[in-house]
Amino acid sequence: MSEPQIKPAATDGFHLVVKALLANRIDTIYGVAGIPITDLARLAQAEGIRYIGFRHEQSAGNAAAISGYLRQWPGVCLTVSAPGFLNGLVALANATTNGFPMIQISGSSDRAIIDLQQGDYEELDQLNAARPYAKAAFRVNRAEDVGVGVARAIRATLSGRPGGVYLDITAAALASTTDEATAQQSLIEVVDPAPARAPSAQSVERALTLLAGAQRPLVILGKGAAYSRAEGAIRGFIEQTGVPFLPMSMAKGILEDDHPLCAAAARSFVLAQADVVMLVGARLNWLLGHGRSPQWSAQAKFIQIDIEPTEFDSNRAIAAPIAGDIASSMQALLAGLPARPVHVPPAWIELVSSHRQHNEAHMADLLRANPVPMNFHCALAAVRDALAQRPDVYVVNEGANTLDVARNLIGMKAPRLRLDAGTWGVMGVGMGYSIGAAVTSGKPVVAIEGDSAFGFSGMEIETICRYRLPVVIVILNNGGIYRGDDINRGPGTDPGATTLMASARYDRMIEAFGGVGYHVERPEALKAALEAALAAGTPALINCVIDPHAGTESGHLKNLNPKSALTGAN
Ligand code: ADP
Ligand code: MG
Repeated sequence: MSEPQIKPAATDGFHLVVKALLANRIDTIYGVAGIPITDLARLAQAEGIRYIGFRHEQSAGNAAAISGYLRQWPGVCLTVSAPGFLNGLVALANATTNGFPMIQISGSSDRAIIDLQQGDYEELDQLNAARPYAKAAFRVNRAEDVGVGVARAIRATLSGRPGGVYLDITAAALASTTDEATAQQSLIEVVDPAPARAPSAQSVERALTLLAGAQRPLVILGKGAAYSRAEGAIRGFIEQTGVPFLPMSMAKGILEDDHPLCAAAARSFVLAQADVVMLVGARLNWLLGHGRSPQWSAQAKFIQIDIEPTEFDSNRAIAAPIAGDIASSMQALLAGLPARPVHVPPAWIELVSSHRQHNEAHMADLLRANPVPMNFHCALAAVRDALAQRPDVYVVNEGANTLDVARNLIGMKAPRLRLDAGTWGVMGVGMGYSIGAAVTSGKPVVAIEGDSAFGFSGMEIETICRYRLPVVIVILNNGGIYRGDDINRGPGTDPGATTLMASARYDRMIEAFGGVGYHVERPEALKAALEAALAAGTPALINCVIDPHAGTESGHLKNLNPKSALTGAN
């Protein structure tokens, strides 16, 4: 008689994905369940990964991306094949554009059928569709490759300039089995996926020499600086040298906006006047006028600290590039100061202060107006006042006028608390970012939304209520994209092209899901509602009635909106 054969214990692709994520401290997945990943979501939850189920993949992807930004660890989004994958792809592209570490994992259909285009359920060549929008894209075809696939995705998303990574896992790979021993050996725990990159001594000296010779120096802080968590060294450098700084919108709070060296209220002036500019984790893209005149002086010289060396000279010559991570680079600059001290001429500081005071007085005039119905300024001043006592609150912000005015009016006191439309100026990130921030931090979130911007992800208020997240949504409802008073220039009776429903009661939407709705028409009521909602710490939505005639078309981006003879020139 032969010995009885003992079959080795087997495991499958589903289990391996969950194990590989757990081995790499991924403790949350944001997704929408469906074929073929439903059981992956269930299994992840069963094994202790928090699964947050959304109503649309784009919001799930945005939540994952912002969680990656807040934690310096990949946010993971799970999508179904083809249409669900494509819905998530917008968020993946946005993560790549903004430099957020995020991994989109998607199930996909039968390769043999896809490649011959024989018409499968949800047929799409997802890997190739994702490639142009992702920092990297990989496909796992066999259960035993899951460990390598997840490890490669984590390294690709976190190393250097972070970005979105696509990981395709076929339905066949998820269902395929392998023996437990092979599976266990195939798992990889990534070691040091975002290695520090110290700058060269020469690049640091070159930058300090340039800065020491400056008459009107300026530091610009970008969200790369916020992401790198280098606020200690950045504050040390700015306070020791006395160079004024300008925060990009998501860099607000690295140093508090009311810091004496903050030049935010004198933005146009310092951009035009600065002779040496140090960019710290900020790109010279459209948000900075590409570094060109008339916004900038043609004589200005630039220092740029960036982890991505191909960024240098992308828009304008960079006289002193520092290739390195921001924490290491700022420390090296600080350490170099005794040998190459930087003294800022007092005249420059006085000029910056006087421009700041002048612009602050102008803002105070705007705020005194307080019209009925409310305009953006008086409503957002009420939001600012309610937030003044709550420096722990995350602020999510999107819209056109809502974004422009809130960015200027609402100061931040701590880093990484402001999350907004970012590099693309995209609308539709509001609820995804709010959910991602609330889940990641456990802290309250206030989403300050234009009525149009809110519409792109509004259904996620059900998600917010289902998970009982401490998210308060403030909708500045002027009944339109930009403004609410557009007309139909044709023969029909349809509403104008940018018109939305000014009478909409968005507050009643959240009541349908058990949240608290407020409808306010005056700043005092808005402030009281926001304070009450924050004190309750439960989901709430405040519908703020704003004058449909308030606001400017395209907000601050007038010059980007080409005009036909129909509506006249800008
Ligand atoms: P903002 O929109 O706030 O100006 P950007 O997204 O344009 O910011 O620029 C951020 C820059 O920061 C990118 O060029 C990115 O490569 C860089 N960056 C991101 N993380 C780091 C880091 N840890 N160290 C150095 N540079 C970084
Ligand atoms: Mg509007």
